[in-house]
Amino acid sequence: MKGGGAYINIGSSSSSINSSGSGSGSKMTLGKSVKMYLTIFIATTCIYMVLYQYHMSREPFSPSEVGKHQEKSSSSSYIASYLWSPISLLMANNLTSNNATTTTTTTVATTTVSNVDQVQESSFGSIQSVSLAATRPTLTSSSASASASGGGAHKTATTTSTTPAPATIGSAVTATTRSTKANPSAKKATANAAKALAPSTSMSQSQLDAAHKIQPTFVAASQPPPLYIITPTYRRPEQLAELTRLGYTLKHVANLLWLVIEDANKTNPLVAHTLDRIGVPYEYMVAPMPEKYKQTKKAKPRGVSNRNRGLEYLRQHATEGVLYFADDDNTYDISIFEQMRYISKVGMWPVGLVTKTGVSSPIIRNGKLDGYYDGWIGGRKYPVDMAGFAVNIKFLRQRPHAQMPFKPGYEEDGFLRSLAPLDNNEIDLLADECRDILTWHTQTKKNPPAQALNKTRYSNTNLVHIDKLLVRP
Ligand code: UDP
Ligand code: MN
Repeated sequence: MKGGGAYINIGSSSSSINSSGSGSGSKMTLGKSVKMYLTIFIATTCIYMVLYQYHMSREPFSPSEVGKHQEKSSSSSYIASYLWSPISLLMANNLTSNNATTTTTTTVATTTVSNVDQVQESSFGSIQSVSLAATRPTLTSSSASASASGGGAHKTATTTSTTPAPATIGSAVTATTRSTKANPSAKKATANAAKALAPSTSMSQSQLDAAHKIQPTFVAASQPPPLYIITPTYRRPEQLAELTRLGYTLKHVANLLWLVIEDANKTNPLVAHTLDRIGVPYEYMVAPMPEKYKQTKKAKPRGVSNRNRGLEYLRQHATEGVLYFADDDNTYDISIFEQMRYISKVGMWPVGLVTKTGVSSPIIRNGKLDGYYDGWIGGRKYPVDMAGFAVNIKFLRQRPHAQMPFKPGYEEDGFLRSLAPLDNNEIDLLADECRDILTWHTQTKKNPPAQALNKTRYSNTNLVHIDKLLVRP
């Protein structure tokens, strides 16, 4: 106990001065010695404060300390931060590294405000990197994945997490290239979101150093094969809710590029803003349904032009990995994404909530694909749901004419047929050999368009802002 030792020494030396004085002189001597005592005490305290601060600023935080710090910071350390006194100093010196939690807590108690920020900043960084794939964008150029770096005029805003998180597509990409060119406000949204998420440029060198020191703990060994998720979407009151729900599901999946393709003539800044906010690497494009199908009174080929646009994009930009058609309104267990990455040609699995049978699935008999179970067969060779299959990119590229037909009810069948030649035993059977359900064909209740806001009555209120966030047909 260094501080304690010094304290006692000073005390005993001053008392020896006292005992040597006499009479009225002894009063003066007493006053002087009290003054001296106080001066020495304050000076020593200050020196210890400075020394301790210096010591703490040089000490790196290990991930475990940082993690535990988060749990504690709201309670004891917060109160302790008011104990800016020699006692807390003594306590801090006394608590050694064999109790990491307490040490970190005490650190907060005895460092300046900027040091507290440093602790919180570094803990934020490390914890995020564990659970999230692409959270903290920086503007560096994309390194790997053909998809990301493909187009010539294709400018990509790349997201990388501060620590090499479980891989993002070629260190991850968000790009609203086409859309942002056509739409300046979408570009602005992208920039703003990037600004909001980017590690602040005002990070001090010591903060950067602290972040750097904990990096190696989280380095991923290698990147898994990339996933390309093609999501058709269209303008309606539920659109942003659907994309938000799907987006945050996809956020749990590493090395993924989300191709959001809207059935429209131009992009919608509200959609771009939503995608930016979610933070999954994405590309936002448009592909309107041909007029002749829009006009028809019969069933429409929903999402077909969008999906074919996605296929065209992949032929241009992707060389490997797997593609999956994920409608914006369906429900996905993230484990299906980890399984589909390794599909060699085509993979299939059950989809819940399809027709009266409640599920659509390949039938597996003696370990082999032996037909399909679905409430409506309709003469299809592949009576499967859109959510129930995925295709390898290399395999797709070997079939340059493969695409989805504008034929309501036969979209999946037509596309899978266009992948011929494809043998039944070349189809990978996922989700525990089709014994599990990991995707569902959910359907959202249709909502009426929001009625117009009375702008006179509600001028100068928040409702004016909210009103601009509503998607009206
Ligand atoms: N879709 C589209 N344009 C439309 C209708 C639908 O792009 O006019 C998209 C929709 O966002 C979804 C997919 O196509 O991702 C399938 O549409 P929907 O969910 O309405 O079809 P269902 O699941 O009922 O067969
Ligand atoms: Mn649907």
